[in-house]
Amino acid sequence: MPDFIKNIEIKLLKVPLEKPVSDAKVITGKQTPLKEVMITCAIIRTNDGREGFGYVYCKRNGGPAQYSLAKEYAPLLIDEDPDDISRLWDKLLWSSISIGAGGVAVQAITPFDIALWDLKAKKAELSITKLLGQFKEEVPCYNTSGGFLQDSIDEVIDNAQKVLSEGAGGIKIKVGQKDYKEDVRRVEALRKALGDDVPIMVDANQQWDVSTALKAGRYLDEYDLVWLEEPVGAYDVEGHYRLSRALETPIATGEMLVSFNEGLPYLDRRAFDVCQFDAPRIGGITQYKKVIDRCEEQQLVLAPHYSMELHLPLVACYNGEVWVEHFEWFEKMGIFNERVEMNNGLMKVPNRPGIGLTLNNDVVRKLMVDSAEFK
Ligand SMILES: [Mg+2]
Repeated sequence: MPDFIKNIEIKLLKVPLEKPVSDAKVITGKQTPLKEVMITCAIIRTNDGREGFGYVYCKRNGGPAQYSLAKEYAPLLIDEDPDDISRLWDKLLWSSISIGAGGVAVQAITPFDIALWDLKAKKAELSITKLLGQFKEEVPCYNTSGGFLQDSIDEVIDNAQKVLSEGAGGIKIKVGQKDYKEDVRRVEALRKALGDDVPIMVDANQQWDVSTALKAGRYLDEYDLVWLEEPVGAYDVEGHYRLSRALETPIATGEMLVSFNEGLPYLDRRAFDVCQFDAPRIGGITQYKKVIDRCEEQQLVLAPHYSMELHLPLVACYNGEVWVEHFEWFEKMGIFNERVEMNNGLMKVPNRPGIGLTLNNDVVRKLMVDSAEFK
């Protein structure tokens, strides 16, 4: 008899940040500074006593919506075979198709999808990386958390030097000040302070139109950047295409996309150089496997947005250049019992069974907003 899902627990957590952060979307008044991240966790237990864990996150509004839909999804998984991950992914999506096939509808599937992959890998006594097929034991990483627009360039440089000494392999800073020339001055100062050998990325968070991005990008081409991220609107496929052809600096985008299908126009047109699709945002590991395959066809750089704990073991399955974004917010709160190992610019790919993450229950109790159980 195949195993079946016997019990599911889901929890909604609110994770406050040490200090609010701002990117270009705040400067333009689209958003207010980010103060917290919401996480919906799923713990799936099988009849034979095994357990899988997964989660999805949300910045600003929407976390309770992900959690609420997850509560509707969970009963549909009870008594199901946990190995039939693709079928179960479809079953959940079709159950809510009236609200669409992207965004919250797929993000509420994410915690279950990841928990099912965690279960499957643990059953095979393998890490998720080994289960999917490992290419890399270590992965380059860069830090973002000290490069926000509210910080002076001196603070940005101090933080960059600190995180580089702690093992980060590159530094990403935000651009998209009211005058792009101010961005160029900040990048110039950072390049001068860090020297020629440190990888630097910049992120405009959709601040510019194509002509401003072209002008700024031509200045920025002087500083040997690893990439220019979200120079224009997240859905402007042609704009990204034009910039990736016109500039020497590789063009990165994809973090805002909320389903695999939403990313297809970028992949079909090869409108970018660096693919930043975010596994939790597009529906979990089942969807991200497709991203890995498509990127490999075109030998894109794979640099998923955020969620380093989850993306590290996934990008290690890629046969090409990868980067993981070092965001230590969850580590600072101690949400997981495990920590990412980072040395000499590289993160070590964990060899623990499954996705290799367990919740620190003392911390979870303090952050928990709500929880529910299904049998
Ligand atoms: Mg970004």
